[in-house]
Amino acid sequence: MISLTDLRKKYFGAPDATDEDMEIVRAVRGYVEGEIMPSRKELEGGWHRDEKLARSTFEKVHQGLVDIGVQRAVWPKRFGGLDVRGAVNEMMVEEISRGDAGLATHMGIITWAMLPALRANRMDLLQRFLPTICDDKPHGMCMALTEPSGGANTEDPTQHGRTIETIARLEGDAWVINGNKIWPSGAGIADIAYCTVCTTDAKKGDEGIAIIYVPPDAPGLSFSKPYEKMGMCWTDTNAEIYFEDVRVPKENRVAGPGEDAKILHDTVAMGRLGTCGFALGAAQACFEIALDWTKQREIAGRPVRTRSLHAGILGEMAQRIESARSYAMHVFKMSKNVALYGRPGEPFMLSKCSGAKAYVCNVAIWVAHKAIELMGSYGYSFDYHVEKYLRDVKILQLWLGGPQRALLDVALGYYNFEW
Ligand SMILES: Cc1cc2nc3c(=O)[nH]c(=O)nc-3n(C[C@H](O)[C@H](O)[C@H](O)COP(=O)(O)OP(=O)(O)OC[C@H]3O[C@@H](n4cnc5c(N)ncnc54)[C@H](O)[C@@H]3O)c2cc1C
Repeated sequence: MISLTDLRKKYFGAPDATDEDMEIVRAVRGYVEGEIMPSRKELEGGWHRDEKLARSTFEKVHQGLVDIGVQRAVWPKRFGGLDVRGAVNEMMVEEISRGDAGLATHMGIITWAMLPALRANRMDLLQRFLPTICDDKPHGMCMALTEPSGGANTEDPTQHGRTIETIARLEGDAWVINGNKIWPSGAGIADIAYCTVCTTDAKKGDEGIAIIYVPPDAPGLSFSKPYEKMGMCWTDTNAEIYFEDVRVPKENRVAGPGEDAKILHDTVAMGRLGTCGFALGAAQACFEIALDWTKQREIAGRPVRTRSLHAGILGEMAQRIESARSYAMHVFKMSKNVALYGRPGEPFMLSKCSGAKAYVCNVAIWVAHKAIELMGSYGYSFDYHVEKYLRDVKILQLWLGGPQRALLDVALGYYNFEW
């Protein structure tokens, strides 16, 4: 198994994390090597996408990661968590994604969907959800943001929530929700809650935005069949969500007028930054596969990787991955210093989070393509996994606003303009 020193070298000294914190990253890496890497094909149900095989493999490895403590790692001890610190979550996400980006997504959504309650310091909501999240069973959550009228629009702070069409109306002590979400990860299978972005009145702009936790068994909540898609075929489940007069207690709203909007923008920014770990894990896996294959494969009597042109490509893959990881870790550290850099959803930090996400995802896609090129037809084959990583990473670049939208945010961090 990888030594703690080598793990620290990979993460450039792993700032802020103690050796005890790093042990869980090491355990995750060991589990990925031993159990997930050999199951990558089965997680897709094999070449024929057999649902039964995919689901049973997913359940097995999901439980394995819960047993190691991944699901409870970042939560405070008083709720049953392990209270790991520093960038440990980002490192764990990268290691899981090195095995399977969809599995990392499914598990990562819990942290993302809990972020609004955490940001609002809602101890009652944390007390309601965290003890279950920290138990020994696998769980799922959902962050329901995207709507049929658009994903990038809904997330965009410059739109001030005016494009949101899911309406929450206060009736006595309850919010009554009507509307329709598309694509959310975990839709139809989340058992903890659906963190739902609504508006009380789109004309009110930011003042209208409301983030409300909806229980999975709320009457009036229903789902479409899961979407069939290019990658993350079974590991990340996406479907439409329908809200028809869904009533939830008033206190399920995270904060209040104006504050929910700030929390939404912070949550989107942190979701973008969090995506970097998924992309880095997949990129690292493609690099390692290419490194190994070009060592074994001999052409004209020499291993491919000893040819200068190929060594140059491998060198550039490493260079881009390392710069992408440094970029993501740097912005992650900035996001922890609100006093100096502002909230993650404010233009300066949004620029950093969106920029890091777009850059790291572009690197992952480039690395996967280069790995296929170096491996020739073997890279194109299902047997060698790289084509699966390529299919999985493409969505990382697109979700939470695509790469073009991200560049707008980067520019908006430097000067203001209407688009
Ligand atoms: C596997 C998967 C998982 C997902 N998980 C979730 C989830 O957990 N929760 C959730 O709510 N949603 C989720 N989504 C939805 C996803 O986040 C959205 O689809 C995504 O944000 C893009 O929205 P859209 O498809 O409506 O594209 P659009 O918003 O229509 O954008 C289309 C294109 O236009 C570009 N664009 C948009 N606005 C601008 C602009 N102003 N300037 C320049 N270019 C622009 C975008 O970059 C994009 O390339 C998921 C989707 C998938 C496929």
